[in-house]
Amino acid sequence: MSNLVIAIDGPAGAGKSTVAKLIAQNLNIVYIDTGSMYRALTYKLLKENIDLNNTSKIIDVLNSTKIDFRDNHIFLDDEIVDDKIRTNKINNNVSLVAKIKEVREKLVKIQRNISKNNDIIMDGRDIGSYVLPNAKFKFYITANPEERGKRRYKELIKEYPNIKLSEIIEEIKERDKIDKTRNIAPLIKTEDSIEIDTTNKSIEEVVKIILNYIEKNNY
Ligand code: C5P
Repeated sequence: MSNLVIAIDGPAGAGKSTVAKLIAQNLNIVYIDTGSMYRALTYKLLKENIDLNNTSKIIDVLNSTKIDFRDNHIFLDDEIVDDKIRTNKINNNVSLVAKIKEVREKLVKIQRNISKNNDIIMDGRDIGSYVLPNAKFKFYITANPEERGKRRYKELIKEYPNIKLSEIIEEIKERDKIDKTRNIAPLIKTEDSIEIDTTNKSIEEVVKIILNYIEKNNY
């Protein structure tokens, strides 16, 4: 029997990773957060003060960097960096790194390898369209930018008491724009994916919709 493969795509703040994690637990399958891989590289580049417009320097760093996602943790050069990659600075720079061809090639290879021998749910921007186009189940999870901004704001306000909701919404829109218009594997909703608008839905409702769909479609 072939592996169970579930692709979850959509813009920032739509709730993809929270939903994907719960579904992984429920079905007892592996969860892969591909965004954390792009974030981990961005974290390293910022830490080393690399100019994010200097593509050749970024590729040099990329070539000597080990990135892995396993047991629900993101590893950067064998160190767990789960919390370090969730800063606002990384939110606002990661899309610049993620549009570089060589970066995508390396990380997509790792993602496809993990999917070979596991039942998995993988979330990102290009999973159903590019990384795992043969996934049996594809979901496109979205919400309006104001709602997504509010969710991000709630996550960030504790650490950044001076942030403004209006700025967060603008930053989310800017990230969407870069992710949707880049040349390689941009964020799109594929024809064979099921769209779920989470604007007025709870996490539990979204999880239920997905689990019901999977069950109904004979998994
Ligand atoms: O999902 P998350 O918001 O953590 O992703 C961070 C960024 O990584 C995205 O805004 C996007 O630029 C990039 N990304 C990507 N392809 C993926 C996952 C994330 O380009 N499959």
